[in-house]
Amino acid sequence: MTHPMPHPDRAGRAIACPACDAVTTLAAAEDAKAARCAACGGPLFTGRPMALTAARFNAHTGQSDLPLVIDFWADWCGPCKSMAPVFEALAAEFEPHVRFAKVDTDAERELAEYFRISTIPTLSFIHEHREVARVAGAMFAGDLRRWLYDALSQTEGTARDTEEDTASPAHEPETP
Ligand SMILES: [Zn+2]
Repeated sequence: MTHPMPHPDRAGRAIACPACDAVTTLAAAEDAKAARCAACGGPLFTGRPMALTAARFNAHTGQSDLPLVIDFWADWCGPCKSMAPVFEALAAEFEPHVRFAKVDTDAERELAEYFRISTIPTLSFIHEHREVARVAGAMFAGDLRRWLYDALSQTEGTARDTEEDTASPAHEPETP
């Protein structure tokens, strides 16, 4: 175990705007729920899932520090539609800790193929370019909330390790 100084990049949080995709960096103490986008002035959190497309994907997974949960759905999918209000209600509950997004698999075939989506609805939880958790099939609110807390706790573990245990990026090999 080493005891390095906190990583300077971790002082603030980079959050991609749900409207224009510009990335705003917030100070650690700043109230994210009240914060506004530096580019378009819109709220960084709206309490609703955003519509994610291939064009918007990189801003929200590659440049944002915020964990992202994606609901892969389609208009003809009954279970998708039954889960939609549950997913939307949980978006308001989990902000500003998680960004909620929906991918229309008919319109965004490229993203669906990239994620190898074979059945819908499928939820994918992404943090720091990595899929932390995935689940297929419609869920009720209680199960979905538990699944989200479990996935979120894994990302917090990653962040803590990065901040407190090593000064190097988490993907570097450990020295024996
Ligand atoms: Zn914006």
